[in-house]
Amino acid sequence: MPLPIVAIIGRPNVGKSTIVNRLAQVQDAIVFDEPGVTRDRTYKRAFWLDREFTVVDTGGLVFDDDTEFLPMIREQAESALAESCAAIFVVDGRQGLTIADEEIASWLRLQSVPVILAVNKCESVIHGELQASEFWSLGLGTPYAMSGIHGNGTGDMLDEVIKFFPEASEFTDNEEIRVAIVGRPNVGKSSLLNAFTGQNRSIVSDISGTTRDTIDMQVERDGIHYRLVDTAGIRKKKNVDYGPEFFSINRAFKAINRSDVVLMVLDAEDGVTEQDQKLAGRILDEGRACVVVVNKWDMIEKDSNTIYEFEREIRSRFHFTEWADIIFTSALNGQRVEKIFDLIAPAAEQHRRRLQTSVINEVIEDAVMWHTPPTTRQGKQGKIYYGTQVSIQPPSIALFVNNPDLFGDGYRRYIERKFRESLGFRGTPIRLFWRGKKVRDMDRTTNANRATRVK
Ligand code: GDP
Ligand code: GDP
Repeated sequence: MPLPIVAIIGRPNVGKSTIVNRLAQVQDAIVFDEPGVTRDRTYKRAFWLDREFTVVDTGGLVFDDDTEFLPMIREQAESALAESCAAIFVVDGRQGLTIADEEIASWLRLQSVPVILAVNKCESVIHGELQASEFWSLGLGTPYAMSGIHGNGTGDMLDEVIKFFPEASEFTDNEEIRVAIVGRPNVGKSSLLNAFTGQNRSIVSDISGTTRDTIDMQVERDGIHYRLVDTAGIRKKKNVDYGPEFFSINRAFKAINRSDVVLMVLDAEDGVTEQDQKLAGRILDEGRACVVVVNKWDMIEKDSNTIYEFEREIRSRFHFTEWADIIFTSALNGQRVEKIFDLIAPAAEQHRRRLQTSVINEVIEDAVMWHTPPTTRQGKQGKIYYGTQVSIQPPSIALFVNNPDLFGDGYRRYIERKFRESLGFRGTPIRLFWRGKKVRDMDRTTNANRATRVK
């Protein structure tokens, strides 16, 4: 299941980007601008307590003659809201209530999304609450006094936001596996889709919102239900007017976002191209499970070594997805096409796998015994106190340590490798969050953010 989405709404300069950056605080990864079509929206991954979500910054809501939204901006904001389970409406507490805020509030009341009112720039201990109280008159419930820069008040506000998330169990007990089929044009995605669905395909949804023609299809294998997401995007014949590459990548990104498992389809004759690497990077950033399908295998002249050579080549170019299975197929003659499902199902299972804390700590203990954490020249040694799983899809483990700075990349990779050696996780990425001990309890936002920093 995709993560819950939270939209950030408000006028320019109230502090939306500051707040988004505070919530996400992952500067080195997972930040992506949609190329082109939805340039104004940025999606970032964020955490609060044990809930993971995506924040989308809608860009500033700009008014025409102080009364109307510019239609394009409004459309952008509305489509962002359509996919969100809550909206944070940001206003400026120092500036006070403005007409534009009132306009946005009345428009927000027409949208079917719960709104949390964040009164930003209220870092002043003396004036903060007072500044916020002025916004009761918007009729949107409690105004939360907070500061995006200093962090105070964000915790209470987020406590309110996550109340509107679907139960965590709704994300885990879902029997259906959502599968996105992505790859460059002409690699054989539509052909594979035809092979999967045959004549008895059932179209299950027409998602409202940005892209009207998003169509999912359902297939069943061995009692497991698969939902093939955005098959309309797969079928769409390349339309030269749009510039086919550009358009399909944007669409593929959206399909990845809605999936559990991604089928990354390559053309055996072309091998791994730069665009393929870009897609693979996105799959990793989004934390999706993945199966690599090398299609048109019938076109390759083979001897007994060919498959190994191909596999080695692909793994070296996709080094960050070394955990993914690779399968060699021909959609043309059906070779191994059905076997793809034998790889999707376990990948999906690993992706939603939940580990007992005792198991995690056994792995850590063992790993530390083989290879003690590094010591600095000043004699300070890294210590891992314990670990616990904080979320699934992908499995994410928080490691509580004396000081995250004492653990370099090498040691972090070693620990991840140990988790894989001991526990498998074939087909899915896993995430480790190195959490410091010395966190000021006063500031729970900083605390939560520290967990998201993957270095
Ligand atoms: P956006 O246009 O809504 O995304 O606003 P920005 O995040 O770019 O912030 C606009 C301005 O407000 C910047 O100069 C920020 O430094 C400032 N700002 C943001 N948050 C706070 C805050 O909590 N307190 C104060 N005093 N200024 C803030
Ligand atoms: P898409 O753009 O990724 O959906 O690719 P299509 O499914 O439309 O396939 C593009 C072309 O490759 C078509 O002419 C297909 O017949 C051909 N094709 C697809 N799969 C295979 C395959 O496994 N082997 C061979 N030889 N051709 C294939």
